[in-house]
Amino acid sequence: LIQLYIPLNFLGVMYREIRQALTDIERMFGLLKTNREVEDKPDARDLPEGPLGVRFASVDFHYEAKRQILFGVDIDVPAGRTVAVVGHSGSGKSTLARLLFRFYDVSGGRLEIGGQDIRNIRQHSLRRAIGIVPQDTVLFNDTIRYNIEYGRPGASQSEIEAAARAAQLHDFVARLPDGYETRVGERGLKLSGGEKQRVAIARALLKNPPILIFDEATSALDSKTEQAIQAQLEAAARGRTAIVIAHRLSTVMNADEILVLDGGRVVERGQHAALLSRDGAYASMWALQQREAAEQAA
Ligand code: ADP
Ligand code: MG
Repeated sequence: LIQLYIPLNFLGVMYREIRQALTDIERMFGLLKTNREVEDKPDARDLPEGPLGVRFASVDFHYEAKRQILFGVDIDVPAGRTVAVVGHSGSGKSTLARLLFRFYDVSGGRLEIGGQDIRNIRQHSLRRAIGIVPQDTVLFNDTIRYNIEYGRPGASQSEIEAAARAAQLHDFVARLPDGYETRVGERGLKLSGGEKQRVAIARALLKNPPILIFDEATSALDSKTEQAIQAQLEAAARGRTAIVIAHRLSTVMNADEILVLDGGRVVERGQHAALLSRDGAYASMWALQQREAAEQAA
């Protein structure tokens, strides 16, 4: 009986973990139905170890047939480089992240990682290779430790702490009576948007994947905390393939390439200085944000 019990119990734990992983992934982007439309091909392969480039080649996409969201988007992120995507709300930035994580398949064109069409890659392998700090983080009803460790199950306490420090979260956690064992979420401590965002950053840093996506990863933080984390995010992105979706342009000035997305189309691309001298969409967004920053400081 004992022999029977152990594997069943083990399966129960596995089942719970898989369920929870799915719940997280689904809730992360608020998608429940569409996710299941994407399935592994029988001959799908795993990604190789090591650095991986990312390429969007003439990508078209619609959620609903009547309304196209992306139009012929080309993005090339060579392995180890950082590409930033900026643009107004609704221009399609988060959609790029969802496609890369393969919550949806493209409607036209193709998306490649390490030179392979992502439709030929096992989803498990794909999702292991990518760390996302999403725009809206949903946490598990569990401890802070669990929520960070989820990035790399089995990580040690010192690894978890290091990730939390890099995410400017450790001091906050250390002041809580239960520290890392504090429960968060509906049945525990309610975290602010900025605190949740820092948990998500710590989780992604702990995961340490070859590809990182920051989707307005610091948008809920005050500008002082944002600056403190910025250096850590840049350090985390160094040597990795990174896509940084940003609202505040000052956070992406150093990117290898900056793309401006407008209405689902890339309307400008280049480095910060070159884009400023073009005096186009990027330059006017920059001027506006500089004015806002000056007003806030005054
Ligand atoms: P951004 O991140 O730049 O603000 P998104 O990529 O989130 O923009 O959204 C781009 C467009 O796609 C928006 O018009 C949005 O309303 C639409 N959209 C986003 N998610 C869905 C969805 N699940 N179903 C239908 N339309 C969606
Ligand atoms: Mg978005």
